[in-house]
Parts: sequence; structure tokens; C-alpha cells
Amino acid sequence: MIPIARPLVGDAEAEAAARVVRSGWLTQGPEVAAFEAEFAALVGAAHACAVSSCTTALHLALRAAGVGPGDEVVTVSHSFIATASSVRYCGAVPVFVDIDPATYNIDPALVEAAITPKTKAILCVHQIGMPCDLPALVAVARKHGLRLVEDAACAIGSEIRIDGRWEPIGRPHGDIACFSFHPRKVITTGDGGMLTTNDAEYDRLFRLWRQHGMSVPDTVRHGSRSVIFESYPVLGYNYRMTDVQAAVGREQLKRLPDIIARRRALAHRYRERLTGIPGVSPPVEPEWARSNWQSYAVRLDDGLEQRGVMQALLDRDIATRRGIMCAHLEPAYGQEPWRAGSSLAESERAQGTVVLLPLYAQMSEEEQDQVIDALAAVVADARTGGGAGARKG
Ligand SMILES: *Cc1c(COP(=O)(O)O)cnc(C)c1O
Repeated sequence: MIPIARPLVGDAEAEAAARVVRSGWLTQGPEVAAFEAEFAALVGAAHACAVSSCTTALHLALRAAGVGPGDEVVTVSHSFIATASSVRYCGAVPVFVDIDPATYNIDPALVEAAITPKTKAILCVHQIGMPCDLPALVAVARKHGLRLVEDAACAIGSEIRIDGRWEPIGRPHGDIACFSFHPRKVITTGDGGMLTTNDAEYDRLFRLWRQHGMSVPDTVRHGSRSVIFESYPVLGYNYRMTDVQAAVGREQLKRLPDIIARRRALAHRYRERLTGIPGVSPPVEPEWARSNWQSYAVRLDDGLEQRGVMQALLDRDIATRRGIMCAHLEPAYGQEPWRAGSSLAESERAQGTVVLLPLYAQMSEEEQDQVIDALAAVVADARTGGGAGARKG
């Protein structure tokens, strides 16, 4: 069976976790602080604050951006559901705009028309690792006095060219960027998230909110020779990362350059070999973007039935996933307030025509050829009528 993804973790991570367990300090301690410092240096941000997931990072980012009940946030429906859910955690209304069908990313040209006096922020997504058009989005945000939050859940190691320079996602180019370390992402801590910003006040708020709004962290009280009573000036949450997770994350950061190089080489190979297959379109990487290829998304021609193609591949022991979901099509969004800021036709079309192919750093060229050959056979079968399940109509 060829899986859709496989985290690259091994003895180094296991030993790091054991070291923390033996140390006696298990959560939000020295390993978290070291992971934050290393992450900030890697992406070139002034501050990095570790939390329990990207979802909790997005919640804190939007709260710091001043998003509250009744406010609006312009974002995409075409994303993992956590993007839109984080807006609702703030009591705010997600306003969905459509995607660019070439990159599956927010279409910056649609954002301005979706802005109203209630809009507080733009929440853009670097979808499946592909950088979105940040210069265009920054310009719209600045023009309207809005905060720009980047959902960079999938985008560690991705780069964007701005003013002729290649810069890591997370620098940040907007106001705050949020990352995920779920095992489906490029590096993992099991679960976990990170907020990067250049704004010291935002970073102070993240640290306050992630630990119950506590005025003096327990690390400080623990080291003090005089008695300290903490206070709770604001409502906070428990969004902490553990030291076990952070120690694993530090080992993952060491692997990141090799993981990205391998993923990019495999993506390049996919593109070369899929280009000749009728009915299948490989993804587009704009010349100003370098994706980490967190997922490899191919688009099927209209005549092909997505579920049938996926089932035929699964029958050949190859796991795939449907294209990125649309939050507004889910029952959880049936009753809740959201608004369409544009047509969402391209978002819906992408959900129904895109298939994600297996891609992971340990993937061999033989495994990749197996995927390519199987896809070519399934699609050819469907087009000539042999694989009725994969053909529409
Ligand atoms: C995975 C993902 C998230 C959620 O990340 P968690 O760490 O699992 O909370 C949010 N947004 C996008 C775009 C994602 O792909």
C-alpha cells in the first residue's frame, strides 16, 4: 500500500522525547523556548510563540487582530475547515471569496469587493504549501487598514520572491503567520502550532492567552527565590505546547532542508511524467513561488469521475485524497452565519475535480512510478469506457 503521506520521524525524535521525560519538566519549558528561538531564526521572524495546534494559533492571531463578535473576516471557503472555524471562534462572520483555479489560492482581485465597514482582517491561506500572492494581499490590507493573518499551516519551508529576494513563509509578510505540526504536514510534533510575528505586543498577548491569561508564567515562579502570586488580568486558554512536542520539533527542524529538497525533487518528477497523460493536469507553481509541496494536487478533466478514479487507485493499493474541501458546503456551515463575498464556483469545482497524490520524503522513485503508471492506466481505462466507474455520464 502506498500511503498519501508518511511523517519522517525516527530515533532522533524518540531520543529527544525520552530526554524530556527524564528531565522532569514536561510542558512549556526550556524545550519550547528553544524550539521557538530556532523556528524564529529559520523563518526570519522577530518572535515565534508555540501553541497546541494551528487551529489554536489562528484563534489567537484573529483575537490579536481585534476580531470579535459581529466582525467580518475575508477568507476562503476552499481550505481545511479550521481556517473558517477559527473566525467563528471569535464570534465573527467568515466572508468567503473564490480561488484562482491555477493555484487553488485566494484570488486577491476578489478581496476588495468583499470588504465592508465590519471587516477587521483578511485571513489568507498558503494552500497545501503553495504561497499565495502576498504582495497583492498586503496592498489591499494596508489600503483598507485591515490586519493580514496568514494561515501557513502547510507552508513551513515554502518561499516567496518579494522585491527580487526569496523569503521564507513566516517572516511574516502580513501581520501574523500560523503554522501546524500535525503529522499530515511537512514536519510534525504529533500535534502543535506556531505563531510568528514582528510585533512584540502581539507576541506578548499570545504568551498571555496561551497559558490561561496568567500574569507570571510558572517557569518564572519556579525559578524565583521570592514568593510570587500570579494574577489573571484577562480571559485566557490552555493552548500550551508540551516540552515533549517541542523536543521532537527541534529534531524535525534539523531534517527540514532535506525533506524540502526531496519533496521538490519528487514534485518535479511528477510534473515531468504526468504532463503527457491526457485528462490529468499537474499543479502550477508561479515563477515567484517555491512550494514545499505539502500535497501534490492534480486536476482531472471534466469527463472523469473523481470518486471512481480514487477508488480504482485504491484498488491498486494507492491512497489518494479528494481535493481541498469547501467549508461552506459542510453541514456545520448550514445554520451558521457566513457570507459569500464572490461566486464560489472555482472553489466548488476544485473540490470536485482535484485529487491529491501520495508524496512523502521517504518515497522511492519506484513507488512514484507505481502511482504514475496506475493513474495513467485508470484514466486511460475511464476515457475508453473500460473503467465505467471512473467515467462520468
Ligand atoms: C492542517 C490545517 C489547519 C489545522 O492545523 P492543526 O494543527 O491540525 O490545528 C489549518 N489550516 C489549514 C489550511 C490546514 O491545512
